[in-house]
Amino acid sequence: MPFAATGASGESEPFDTSPETPPEASLFSSPAALADRLAELVALESPPGALGPLNHCADLVADWGTAVLGRPFRRVVRDGLPHLLWPAADQRILMLGHYDTVWPKGTIDDWPFAVADGRATGPGVLDMKAGIVQMFAALASLPDPSRVAVLLTCDEETGSVTSRPLIEEQAMRSGAVLVCEPGTPDGRLKIARKGGSVYRLTARGRAAHAGVEPHLGINATVELAHHVLSVRSLADEERGTSVTPTVLSGGTTTNTVPELATLTIDVRAWTRSELVRVDAALRGLVPQLDGAALELGGGVNRYPLDPEVSLPLAELAQRTAKALGMEPPGAAYAPGASDGNFTAALGVPTLDGLGAVGAGAHARGEYIELAAMPGRIALLAGLVERMLDTAQSQFMQPQLVRSQLVQSQLVQSHPAQSHLAAAHSAGRAG
Ligand SMILES: [Zn+2]
Repeated sequence: MPFAATGASGESEPFDTSPETPPEASLFSSPAALADRLAELVALESPPGALGPLNHCADLVADWGTAVLGRPFRRVVRDGLPHLLWPAADQRILMLGHYDTVWPKGTIDDWPFAVADGRATGPGVLDMKAGIVQMFAALASLPDPSRVAVLLTCDEETGSVTSRPLIEEQAMRSGAVLVCEPGTPDGRLKIARKGGSVYRLTARGRAAHAGVEPHLGINATVELAHHVLSVRSLADEERGTSVTPTVLSGGTTTNTVPELATLTIDVRAWTRSELVRVDAALRGLVPQLDGAALELGGGVNRYPLDPEVSLPLAELAQRTAKALGMEPPGAAYAPGASDGNFTAALGVPTLDGLGAVGAGAHARGEYIELAAMPGRIALLAGLVERMLDTAQSQFMQPQLVRSQLVQSQLVQSHPAQSHLAAAHSAGRAG
């Protein structure tokens, strides 16, 4: 593969953007070709963390991307995981997706790619291999994709642990991010996603013989019990904020007062302020038993995808559909997180759910509507063309005020990201 790289970033290392391979639109030029590409991609299983299969799948995706974009890619390897990046010299738009699926190796043996009644099914077909095919098809149809970057990661289904810095860095280089995760079953785009936090609350007490001298012990399990219900009460159903005590453990033997107990807590919310409210409340917990101590680990993992960041792009997508003579897609709130949460949290305009139309993500039997593919491809390509059009350049502006606002929030609550936010606004100011 040309320009295989394992360097730290797509930005700091030089890259050659001169055309190397002529664009090969024919790979994606007809409904039959689209179905063929989809069959090929689903056949190459890409289970989480399975380096051999992921590399095989990456090879195919890399060939397609390089053929369509006519420029070299970078294979950005993190902990052995090959993420694929086609940076752009004058990068305006980042198309974002992932080629890993939730399905273990061998799933394909009893659930192969198949088409029936206009629906294609197979492991990962909806989430999000059809989205990748559509993304490349849209790029192949563009007269000039030179200002569009593509990033396809392979650890999204396991939390994007190794790809997150790369995603954030490439979003910062771009005026907007288009995420080709699936839309809703009726084809709506995703303009909001919940953010989430994970915590581990640890209670420390003192061990003692539960039969002989229990009064000398400090019971860590009892200490935690005081907090399970109070933590649960931080939820706000009306606002859609859930606070769920999940894994609970304590003690060592049946006849010992527990000196240690732990509780994990899962938090989901539509707004940043709700995540911050719950975070502050959890950090404010005080021990209830004399001599007990509490520790809180963890914190906010992903901030929400805020509609404020996505709506201008969603409206542009609707106008694009109208201009193409298509029914404008609706907009939906999606509870589940995606990598779009990361880019939106940085203040970079982000629109999600531009991928395939279908249902059953992460469920056996997930499928896509093949007949919807050409329309989604036309919508995506049309949207990109409008975004690149100078007349629509408000969507590609830095929105400096907003990014500074987000930056100040990040500095307070996520120090590790502050340098990125600073780099973003510095780049935009120039
Ligand atoms: Zn996905």
